[in-house]
Amino acid sequence: MKHLLPMAGLLAATVLLPGLADAALPDTIAARQKIFGVEHVDPKTGALPKNKVLFSWLSNSTFAASIEGRVVYLDTYITRLEVEPGRTPIVIKDMVDLDPESILLGHGHGDHADNAAYIAAKTGARIVATTETCGVMAKDLERMLADPAIMNDPVAKLDPAAKIDCMSVTSAGSTPGTEILQLDVLEPNACTIAFRHLHSVAVPPDASFPPTPVKIIVDPRDADLFPKGVALTPDEKATSPVTGQMNLETIGKPGGSESLFFSFILRNGSHFSFVWHNSAGALKEGKGQGWDGTPEDGKRIVAILKALPPTDVHMGTASSGNFNNNGLRDLIQYQAALKPKIYIPNHLTTGSATREASSMSVYAGYLKQLDLMNMPKDQRPAIRWLIDPTDYLKPMVFDTTDPIWEDARKEGLINQLCKQPGGEVHIH
Ligand SMILES: [Zn+2]
Repeated sequence: MKHLLPMAGLLAATVLLPGLADAALPDTIAARQKIFGVEHVDPKTGALPKNKVLFSWLSNSTFAASIEGRVVYLDTYITRLEVEPGRTPIVIKDMVDLDPESILLGHGHGDHADNAAYIAAKTGARIVATTETCGVMAKDLERMLADPAIMNDPVAKLDPAAKIDCMSVTSAGSTPGTEILQLDVLEPNACTIAFRHLHSVAVPPDASFPPTPVKIIVDPRDADLFPKGVALTPDEKATSPVTGQMNLETIGKPGGSESLFFSFILRNGSHFSFVWHNSAGALKEGKGQGWDGTPEDGKRIVAILKALPPTDVHMGTASSGNFNNNGLRDLIQYQAALKPKIYIPNHLTTGSATREASSMSVYAGYLKQLDLMNMPKDQRPAIRWLIDPTDYLKPMVFDTTDPIWEDARKEGLINQLCKQPGGEVHIH
């Protein structure tokens, strides 16, 4: 908890560690109260509960998470990030002030990894990403350090000596599902397992699982109800940015589609577990964007999903580049392997088909797809759907000591899979 020292200590730490702890404690407390809910944040220290896991949806696939008080981001892109709070109620300063210790990126495309290099440089948070995306993050920071719109702004400016601390997960160009790693990011609270899986891609229509006939519909009232404000990112064609505008986007490549799947299980309490992925490739065909594989590739990933500790909460993408041909088949095939108790969707506000104010129709399409695939009712997870923008900043809270998460298999799997933080995991 290096950022949550008393004020004198915080100032000393700032002097000793330039580039770290940019946010002042009162700002951190305010941002945590805004994002995680006033009732969950200690008003004096900014600390979060030690016996709970909280997720706060920030748009698209992006969540702020507090895991027994350890604050991290799952992705950092924000749909309609503006200079002032608007339809999206947070601004970039809130994201910095939250003071996360880590930023986990599911993959490097802009609709996931925008803002990541900036927040990391501003807070000292460690990025966890593929080797390819770690390289991109360093380049993104280099560009931002040379951008007068950022560096001349007294609040937004970066420490000129700021560096990206990035944990490279899996080697560059590696085959999906061949390197399964145990990460130390949330130790000693949680065992985190990550591996390369498949980014969504269109494959020919699968006759055995017809696609959902439900169309994705954007609520036509939305544009009137929520008029656009000033986008944070300046228009490329504009000669000079409006005050407060700055470009915090990622260049997004090379390797932007190389995707990581993350699994988490708490070491204490009832061993609450959750997984998060922001893309879902064609497991049946073994294909993903940039990976023209074979069914064997898909089978290898399914075997890993099945070998993971039992999943309490599945946070998985409801958007797919395969939507037009195969609906949400691929998401449901991930789910069939994971058998989660609860499903929380993501990737709802930006994507190949999903947009702001389209979530209700994606929900109907997901339900229809479950029926079309004859998923038995008793094998379906409890659905905790999200609707934008009203479910933004509405914390979902899980008590990690609740006996409902207990499962006789968990202890043994922790002993088997979580032996060596920083090492490789062998699933057989
Ligand atoms: Zn993508």
